[in-house]
Amino acid sequence: MDVIDLRSDTVTHPTPEMRTAMATATVGDDVYGEDPTVNRLEAAAAEMFGMEAGLFVTSGTQGNLIALLTHAPRGSEIIVGDKAHIVLYEQAGMAALGGIMPRTLAVQEDGTLLLDDIEQAIRGDNEHFPRSRVISIENTQGTVGATPLSPEYTRQVAELAHQHQLKFHIDGARIFNAATAYNVSPAEIIAGADSITFCLSKGLCAPVGSILLGSKEFIKEAHRVRKVLGGGMRQVGVLAAAGLIALDKMTQRLAEDHLNAAYLSAQLREVPGVKVMSQNTSFVFFWLEEEARLSPVEFTRKMAEQNVLLSPYPGYERKFRAVLHYWITRERVDEAVAAMKTILG
Ligand SMILES: *Cc1c(COP(=O)(O)O)cnc(C)c1O
Repeated sequence: MDVIDLRSDTVTHPTPEMRTAMATATVGDDVYGEDPTVNRLEAAAAEMFGMEAGLFVTSGTQGNLIALLTHAPRGSEIIVGDKAHIVLYEQAGMAALGGIMPRTLAVQEDGTLLLDDIEQAIRGDNEHFPRSRVISIENTQGTVGATPLSPEYTRQVAELAHQHQLKFHIDGARIFNAATAYNVSPAEIIAGADSITFCLSKGLCAPVGSILLGSKEFIKEAHRVRKVLGGGMRQVGVLAAAGLIALDKMTQRLAEDHLNAAYLSAQLREVPGVKVMSQNTSFVFFWLEEEARLSPVEFTRKMAEQNVLLSPYPGYERKFRAVLHYWITRERVDEAVAAMKTILG
């Protein structure tokens, strides 16, 4: 990647090693369960998280949707944050396709849902009420600065869910960033979850794909649901081959992105007209102040001329997000900051 693309970690390209692995992958018909590379990926992911089974799915959105459709019958309710990706950015798939109602709770500044709020939202046994079936949290919580949630908090939510016979789902699109931030294993960061989705794309650089994990029984049912959603794929080992590298290698290097994000955040403090708002995991949020020499539109355009891509955060004029990833080395951070100083100085 020649351009310094800081807009998101979704812009990452596969690594050279991934491209080679994809070209030489052993494949089979995965709808028959006969793609050895997919089977290896699913087994490796399950083992890494201490779960019984895994399912390779087309995207995080599909993984979350499959999880909810599998856990919750029509007319039931799930408890979820009002700033969750599942609520904001997945086209109300659970309602549109599953007849499931989201019961939204306020996401706190630290990315959590209050345990008291969760407890109060759980429905009692009353003919008037929908039945609560699932509690879902997001880790890292993307819309709240990509904040990582702790294993202790996660365990408390799991306990609460299970006390009330509810299923506990984690949208862990960036769960490895959370595990890295707390310096714990993937199994520890999700301890107590009944299901989890995570992305092999984004910061892990695979071109396509997410994994859904759960019990054997759950994944068996999820397999059916994936099929009806059009997610049954054939010789998809070519993608799973990249996923295996994402899982084995790319998960081990995320601390580098977090350090580069902290470094960028420190450097931005020296740039006139820029105010750093937050830095968590690989995400830096900053504000382009009224006093800045350029308007947000001009700033974005001039940075692009300098080979650096940034964009205002959706819904905001002056709020920007910079996301660090594999293709943004320390040197490239320096280049981006130098470009900013030039055009804003
Ligand atoms: C990216 C993301 C997803 C899934 O998105 P896809 O683009 O469908 O892979 C789900 N949850 C969160 C928090 C995400 O950031």
